[in-house]
Amino acid sequence: MHELSIATSIVEAVTETAAAYPGAHVKEVRLRLGALASVVEDSLRFCWDLAIEDTPLAGAALTVVTLPVVVHCDACNADSELDGVQSFRCSRCGELASDLRQGRELEIESIEIEEPESAVEQPAQEK
Ligand SMILES: [Zn+2]
Repeated sequence: MHELSIATSIVEAVTETAAAYPGAHVKEVRLRLGALASVVEDSLRFCWDLAIEDTPLAGAALTVVTLPVVVHCDACNADSELDGVQSFRCSRCGELASDLRQGRELEIESIEIEEPESAVEQPAQEK
């Protein structure tokens, strides 16, 4: 199940970023996922819940932004979005277009971090 290793590596990357904000809580991670990234979204979501357990990301939501496949057609000299991944043909002229411009993405788009409610500079002192 390679979705688990993907989820784990996302969690590691976000943990590293979130380390700059001590005490902050990661609320949401937005992921850009190309249609050709060969990642099953349902499976990734399932693995996400496992991967965030006992990490600073526990409870964080995973939002997946799916990107369609875009190819560049030399005949039209334009990019065109494919309806599916079965045929790599320009949607304008039908020419075979193998110049892939989008569709293999697997990257973190943004991370939403919630700062702790109490001010960091004034820790509560019990005395
Ligand atoms: Zn074309």
